[in-house]
Parts: sequence; structure tokens; C-alpha cells
Amino acid sequence: MKDHHPSDQASVPEGILESWEAKGVSRRDFLKFCSAMTATLALPATFVPRIAQALEDTRIPVIWLEFQACTGDTEALLRGNQPTAAELILDHLSVEYIETVMAAAGHQAEEAKNRAVEKYKGQYLVLVDGSVPTGEGGAYCTIAGESALEVARKVCGNAAATIAVGSCASFGGVPAAAPNPTGAVSIAEAVPGATVLNMPGCPVNAQNLTAVIVHFLTFGRLPATDRLGRPLFAYGKRIHDNCERRIHFDAGQYAEGFGDEGHRKGYCLYKLGCKGPETFHNCPSVRYNEGQSWPVMAGHGCIGCSEPGFWDTMSPFYRRLPNVPGFGVEATADKIGLGLAAATALAFGAHGVASAFRKGDKVEADKVIKED
Ligand code: SF4
Repeated sequence: MKDHHPSDQASVPEGILESWEAKGVSRRDFLKFCSAMTATLALPATFVPRIAQALEDTRIPVIWLEFQACTGDTEALLRGNQPTAAELILDHLSVEYIETVMAAAGHQAEEAKNRAVEKYKGQYLVLVDGSVPTGEGGAYCTIAGESALEVARKVCGNAAATIAVGSCASFGGVPAAAPNPTGAVSIAEAVPGATVLNMPGCPVNAQNLTAVIVHFLTFGRLPATDRLGRPLFAYGKRIHDNCERRIHFDAGQYAEGFGDEGHRKGYCLYKLGCKGPETFHNCPSVRYNEGQSWPVMAGHGCIGCSEPGFWDTMSPFYRRLPNVPGFGVEATADKIGLGLAAATALAFGAHGVASAFRKGDKVEADKVIKED
């Protein structure tokens, strides 16, 4: 996480810093948070005061919906810090409804939700955790007698914008895996026409999600996205392109099994099934758990959880990807880069498209294909 520059600190009004101090957040932590947000959003450091001001001024109504999910995404955000995500949510968003942590329950809670939809029509933000089951008339997930589909259409259909938090809300996720017994769909499929930003990941990366909220507070709109509706700042690059093990990939040094010498030495995990070469996410730079680590750093290959069709399109997890060219010390880094870009473009058309060819193909081939 990038530390703030002294000149950024100087340009943030003293009153703002004092008001955060009064809430128990030191000026250093607050400025660090604003700097981390500008860095995550790939904005210049000159935006630090603007973000600080937006966090001071803006309170937008938020409704957080929970459908078919494990609540991992809600957990991921509520366990964030700098300042804590709870502080961000409770102090700078006006949270009208969030089942997991709200004090109200039952009819009271539902009334709060319905009132917010009426009162703030077209102005509020929705965060959705989980997919929407459509089978059996929506019987698999009902809240206060309404199906998840009805709730999603009412709440997301009247919102300024909806953020699909995590892989289930973004693309259906695990509940939509074959044979998809509940008829689970993503939020964008459940509410066609709604403004939906997809933030896949299992779970969502709390820093990316916080950055999206900060972007919305600062600029009044969602950040630019790819064709799958994912913010470019977080999903614009492949994991493989920024991976700390890439140097070993380029040198042809691979772990052959968990716990072997190559694995202990931090070699590339491609042969253990890493899906980094076809997964778009900023995990290597932002990481998880307050930037502590991420799966590849911890010794497990990427399982491609932020791509459409996860999990079906990414399993078996321990089977290597086919036809990733550019292995071996003979190839130059430029050739490897070009080869991978071309192979990805050919294989997937545009990033994010599922690797359908993996099913029933010659995936098991042990041969490593080299560039000429
Ligand atoms: S294959 Fe996986 S472990 Fe190896 S460099 Fe690419 S992303 Fe990193």
C-alpha cells in the first residue's frame, strides 16, 4: 500500500482530519486510506484531497441484499480496515438495510428497505451478495414472503446503480455450477436493464470494493468497465502478467508437486493447475487480508474465481491449462509476452470468455509447447 506524500497531507483541510480524529481514526491512517484508494483506482496522488473531501461531504443511501451466497463477501468487507470498512459504511453511507449486521429484524427491517426504495428512488446504491435462484418460482430463496427475484427487481430496478459483490452475484458463481439445481442467475441477468457493476472474486477483494464505493462518492458515477462489466482498474490485467512467480515461468522453473523442491523455492505453479494465464484480476498487486497475501503467494495456483462460469469453466483446479505457449529459457521475454497475448486473444476472443475448449480436449498432454 502506497504511503501518502507530505504535500497531499498538506492539501487536505485541517477540519477534515480533525473530524476523523474525533471518530477515532488518526490523521495518518485516514491519509493512508485516501492514498491507497487513489493508488487502487490508478488516479494521480493529487486526487487525495478530493477523495478526502468526498468522504467528508457525501452520504448516500445504500441497500445491501443477501441472496444465494455464503456471506463471504459481506465478511470480506466488514473485516477490512484503514479506516475500518464498518466506519466507511456506517459513517459515510446511509445504510438503510443490511440483513447481516442491522439492528432491526423482521417486519421492521423490511419496512426500512421498502421505505428507502420509495424515498430515494433513482438515488440509492445497492450492493448484492449472492446469485438469484429462478427455479420453482424462486422458492429456493425468499425473504419476507418475496422471492429473491422479486426483491432484486424491485430494489435494483429502482436504484442509481447496483454493485454485484462477488462471483455469485456477478456471474452466478458456485450456486450456478452444473447442474445448477436452483436455476441461479447473476444480478444482471435477473434485472435486465439495471445499471450493474460486476465485482467477481470468491470472495470479493475488500480494497477493490471500497475503492469502487469511494469512486462513486467522489465522482458520482461508477468506474470504467470491461465488456463483462468489471471495473478496469481491478480487472484490466491478467494475474499472470503481474505474478511474482512469473520470473520462474519465463525461466522454465515449475513446481511439479505440492511440497517438492520447486514448490519450496517458490517456482511457477502452472503445472499444478494455476489459471493465472487466463484470469483477469489485480490479486498480485492488491492481494487479500489487508495486502498480506494471496493464493499464489501462499503456494496455491490461481483457480480463476473472478472469471465467468467459475466454477465449471475453471475446474478441475489441479489440471494444467492447455497450450500456453512461451515456456523455457530459450524464448525471450518479448517473445513469451507476444505469444501469450496472441494465444489468449485467439483462445478467448476477449478477456473473460470461458475456456470452453478445456472440456474433453487434450488437456492432459504433458507436453510444453514452445515458441519457435
Ligand atoms: S502460471 Fe500462475 S504461478 Fe505461474 S507465473 Fe502465471 S500466474 Fe504465476
